[in-house]
Amino acid sequence: MSEQDKYKQIFEANNSWIEKNKVDNPGLFKLLAADQNPDFLYIGCSDSRVHPNQVMGLKPGEVFIHRNIANMVISTDLSALSVINYGVEYLKVKYIIVCGHYGCGGIHAAMEKSDYGILNPWLRSIRDVYHMYRKELNAIEDTEARHRRLVELNTYEQCRNIIKMGEIQKSYYETGFPKVAGWIFDIEDARLHDLNFDLEYELNKIKDIYDITGNAE
Ligand SMILES: [Zn+2]
Repeated sequence: MSEQDKYKQIFEANNSWIEKNKVDNPGLFKLLAADQNPDFLYIGCSDSRVHPNQVMGLKPGEVFIHRNIANMVISTDLSALSVINYGVEYLKVKYIIVCGHYGCGGIHAAMEKSDYGILNPWLRSIRDVYHMYRKELNAIEDTEARHRRLVELNTYEQCRNIIKMGEIQKSYYETGFPKVAGWIFDIEDARLHDLNFDLEYELNKIKDIYDITGNAE
C-alpha cells in the first residue's frame, strides 16, 4: 500500500470507528462533546507501540494523556507540568500514572556514548537517573537486563518528580488525591507491571527538602 493510500485509509477507518461506536457505545460522542471527566492522568512514552487507551482498556474520555520520549517529568518542562497542573487542579484526576516500557529507544539512547544533537539535553535527564544509580546499574553485566532496570528506575524517579510539585502536595494533603503510580509495560507480552510506588512513604522521605506547602510537619 502506498503512503498516500495509508493516509487516505485513516479517514475511512475514522468513519468505520464512528459507525461502530454508534452501535457499541450509543450516546458516547454526545457525552464527550459536553465535557471530560477522566479519573486517570497517564504520562507515557511517545513510542508508537504503547497505546495508553488500548493497554488499559479505557474508552475515550477516561484518561488524560501526556507523552514524551521516555515518559519524563522534568521540572522545567512547561508542557508536562501544564498537563499535570490541569489534570490535578481542574480535572481533579484520582491517579497519575507514569508508564515506562521495556525496549524504550530513549532509554537505549541515554545508555549510549553518542551525540544525539538536539536530543542531548533531554537524554541528559535520563543519564542523570543512570548516574544516581550507577553502582547498581554497572553491576548488571547483561546489557538488556541493565536496560530494563534503568527503565524501572527512571519511571520510579519520574513518580518522585511528580510528588515534588507544590500542587500535587497541596491536593494530596487536602483530599488524599491524586495517588501516583509507576508502571512498566512489557513490550514482549503487552503486560503491565506495577512498581508499587508508595506515595506516603516517598513524600515522608523527601519532605524535609521538597515540601512547599507548609502542611508537612
Ligand atoms: Zn520509549
